[in-house]
Amino acid sequence: MDAGEISPEDREKIVRSDVKFQERIVPESLEENATKYQDISASEYQPKAIIPWHHRIRSSGDVDINTHIIETALDQTSLSLKPCIQTTKGFITNLSNQQQVLDMLVETGVDQCFIWVEGLDKRDTGQDTYEKITRFVKAVSDAGIDPHFYYADYFGTMLHHAGLSGVTYGTMWGEEGEETVEGTSGGGALSRYYVPQMKDFLKIPATVELQQLADAPMCDCRVCSNQFDSWIDLAEREEDDDENIQTPIKKHHLVTRYKQIREVEDQDLGETIDECREDFNEYVSPFNAANQISPSKKVDYLPIWVNAIENELN
Ligand SMILES: [Zn+2]
Repeated sequence: MDAGEISPEDREKIVRSDVKFQERIVPESLEENATKYQDISASEYQPKAIIPWHHRIRSSGDVDINTHIIETALDQTSLSLKPCIQTTKGFITNLSNQQQVLDMLVETGVDQCFIWVEGLDKRDTGQDTYEKITRFVKAVSDAGIDPHFYYADYFGTMLHHAGLSGVTYGTMWGEEGEETVEGTSGGGALSRYYVPQMKDFLKIPATVELQQLADAPMCDCRVCSNQFDSWIDLAEREEDDDENIQTPIKKHHLVTRYKQIREVEDQDLGETIDECREDFNEYVSPFNAANQISPSKKVDYLPIWVNAIENELN
């Protein structure tokens, strides 16, 4: 539903009932099942924050609609609000648009928000866009508002240094909002392995070839070290049984992303930049030499991220 196409009165009704629903859903179901969960006090299970309905921002008018939604939600609840800024690269890279969104957050008095920039795809986003987004995240954080990315790849992890407090990711999530995960002809999900040095997914045969060309030891995460003896073993296991490979490689993705996030949190900006540069320098030749990787696939997003972050934050 487009919040811009309905009357302000109807919009308020929807926002109010949505806030009530989020406030009450967990405590109420606990109360209803009180015999099952006797030791649990339902009031402790109030959500920490409400995510109000949001309206995709493509114009100044859309910012006004979101202001109305946030103000209506604030009137309705004593809980914190965590509004979602869903916007496009075209809108949010304009600096006066950034200011307008920032003013909305400051004036409504929220202290946290989600940011969802549509189409922030590493193969389709230039350095200038990454710079402007870094600038926006920093401005939000500098204003005392905790920003959190809705969809994010490793660039979002690096934005920790701009004040980003977290990124959402998971087995069922693409790394950007519009991504659809390719299916195989058999109907299953395509087996993609998260290559930590590339900060991206590759198909398993491509992963194995690349890691062999790079002379990299087998991934030492707790999932891979339990499951696979070597890169060849990973490739053979996929050939034998491409369904049962899905669970370990999804778990590998989760633990590897988690580890990368913790590492970046423990590093200063210079260390994060140096590491990303080193990974690029080490992997660019093997990447370009690998037969299993399409020549149209590029790895220049790594230096683009590094340059954007360095230009804005150094
Ligand atoms: Zn692993």
